[in-house]
Amino acid sequence: MKRLALTLAVLLPPLLVHGPLSAQRSVVDDAALREADPREWLSHGRDPAETYYSPLDQIDATNVDRLGLAWSWDIESYQGRLEATPLVSDGVLYGTGIWSVVFAVDARTGEEIWKWDPAIVQGGRANSGPSVCCGPVNRGPALYDGKVYAGLLDGRLVALDAETGNVVWVQQTTPVGGEYSVTMAPRIANGNVIIGNSGAEFGVRGYVTAYDAETGEEAWRTYTVPGNPALGFESPAMEFAAQTWQGNWWDLGGGGTVWDGMAFDPDANLFYIGTGNGAPWSREHRSDGVGDNLYLSSILALDADSGEIVWYYQTTPGDDWDYTAVQNIILADIAIDGQERQVLMQAPKNGFFYVLDRITGELLSAEAFGHVTWAYEVDMETGRPIEVPEARYDPTGVWLSPGPRGAHNWNPMSWNPDTGLVYLPGQHNQSFYRVNTEFEPVPGRFNLGTGGGGDRPNPPELPEPRGFLAAIDPVTRQELWRIPHAGSRNGGTMTTAGNLVFSATEEGVFYALDATTGERLWEMELAPGPATPITYELDGRQYVTILSGPGGDQGAGRVWTFALDADAPFPEE
Ligand code: CA
Repeated sequence: MKRLALTLAVLLPPLLVHGPLSAQRSVVDDAALREADPREWLSHGRDPAETYYSPLDQIDATNVDRLGLAWSWDIESYQGRLEATPLVSDGVLYGTGIWSVVFAVDARTGEEIWKWDPAIVQGGRANSGPSVCCGPVNRGPALYDGKVYAGLLDGRLVALDAETGNVVWVQQTTPVGGEYSVTMAPRIANGNVIIGNSGAEFGVRGYVTAYDAETGEEAWRTYTVPGNPALGFESPAMEFAAQTWQGNWWDLGGGGTVWDGMAFDPDANLFYIGTGNGAPWSREHRSDGVGDNLYLSSILALDADSGEIVWYYQTTPGDDWDYTAVQNIILADIAIDGQERQVLMQAPKNGFFYVLDRITGELLSAEAFGHVTWAYEVDMETGRPIEVPEARYDPTGVWLSPGPRGAHNWNPMSWNPDTGLVYLPGQHNQSFYRVNTEFEPVPGRFNLGTGGGGDRPNPPELPEPRGFLAAIDPVTRQELWRIPHAGSRNGGTMTTAGNLVFSATEEGVFYALDATTGERLWEMELAPGPATPITYELDGRQYVTILSGPGGDQGAGRVWTFALDADAPFPEE
């Protein structure tokens, strides 16, 4: 590529050469997001199907051991865990850090272009800041038409000028001073920015909102659980859902927050979301101990233009265990039983790996991938899990797996169409679930309805090791191989046409596997607490980037970028 450019420079007048090679910004519009040029990484999962797969193959299984550090950049803002998937467009890498800091750096050199700090009020409700269940994390930005979008911890959605980092518009997507927060990456569909929120542990009602990307004007909002019937239902779907609830469920919101996984099928014009657990956790306190409580712990297909719920599949009816189904969603076209199917795949917290027909919502398979003791299996006739008798816990309590951290959490799985495998970062954990008979909701606190005093039996043994990366064939429903990890807070996975899988362990060991065999081909120790890798190409050179932290003097986390035969000095600890 470089040689060609030089030749052209000699043969052609400068103006003509300058056109295609200049720094003129290419437009990130609906067509570009859909086309998903592999040299860039324009949206969260790289493409609207959110595969975390890249067709780039310069770095492959034969040469990946030549990977070296190309550059690193310290975010230097706040301390904490990084969970962001960065984006790359036109030679610029955009990312987010702790406390919703947004930044742009040169994707060739790591030189800072701009950084924007929304100055989130820290200290929780006591300081009029956002209540946060699980750290002030952020999972990344979105790009569209010259703007960078980020969901902020205090519930704002901001559009920044991609070149300058200046605020173009800002919308408060949640009630000010409430128990909502935002940690997820916004998504783009048909010119709208779509964002959900978090907060079910405190007691909120889940919903997802679409805003016009240009103006910030609200396009639609879809609730995931019904509100107080006395106030009227927003839609027939809410009226239908209300039949599956009992008692005064709206008092504590009901839950069902949408805080991570989404995907978009532009052909079907369906926008997919996953919904979270119930609020409170205990169905006893939430819904008088009965009912499926739609649409908790569900995968919902929405009309991308109206937000209307087209179909739903509930992974955990009547959730009692914090089994969110917000984990990342991947769309793929695969042959199942000899028939081409347009599928959706998800591995929610509850420990089953689901394959659904993404047009109809039909359940195609559901296999346990983790240590699952709350249910025997999923009944393929009814689509419902067959629970063990003790799963519906009482004031005596019971140990169950998975626990609230789930068999899979925020760290994305990826799908490689070449190998036909899904690479799933999973984990083993358990929890003692007990109905708290003394439960009294307190604003600004965890309102779970579980726990309470009294003896508890010793926990059963958990399988070791605690973490793993599993290669799953969604057609044969077989797990082909599994890489053990000592820890369970490992990063997300990314896979490439170079027959590679990239991921990092909780301890910060960044590694590449042979995507077919799982053989470890390369590794390098970074900083603990990794996010999810991406890859891109500039000037004919393929790069691989991952955020990991804490690192550096500030303990603020770092952006690490690698390329073949690169030998930038390793940053000081
Ligand atoms: Ca939760």
